[in-house]
Amino acid sequence: MNDISLNAYVVDKYPSGEIDERVVLFTREFGKLSGFLKSGRKINGKLSAHLQILNKVVVRIVEKNKIQVVDALKQRSLESERGRALTFFRLLNQLVSEGEPDLRIWDLLEKEDIDIRKLLKFSGFDPEHANCARCEIDRINYFLSSDQLFYCDKCLKEGDRNGWVFPV
Ligand SMILES: [Zn+2]
Repeated sequence: MNDISLNAYVVDKYPSGEIDERVVLFTREFGKLSGFLKSGRKINGKLSAHLQILNKVVVRIVEKNKIQVVDALKQRSLESERGRALTFFRLLNQLVSEGEPDLRIWDLLEKEDIDIRKLLKFSGFDPEHANCARCEIDRINYFLSSDQLFYCDKCLKEGDRNGWVFPV
């Protein structure tokens, strides 16, 4: 992977230093990978506009000491599914390790089948026959990604209700 172009979904993006950004991408070939976007936070950082979370892009990636995103072009966006897609990407980012491709998850995105339960299943946490981790009832309502367990409505503690909880 010295200098290649790939289709990718933008999973996350956050500041790195004064003006740079880190971009988390999900690709067909390499699964999740994160790249460095030089000057991404500058007003005129034109690539950054293409690299918005929920966008599908063609990216050009160069790997020297680290993976650097050197070009990006927006193809489309999952904006019409915004709420669900943001949750999907947040969970994907937490469950999927870098460099482990998963064509089933890739296909969900390609078909715009933004299904949290399928993402959980493909990641090894099938909600289908899951029970609540505390009371063992079989009607689960949430997946708590910080401990990777399912809970029913009653058993999820107030303190658990942060960015790590996903309705299923
Ligand atoms: Zn319970």
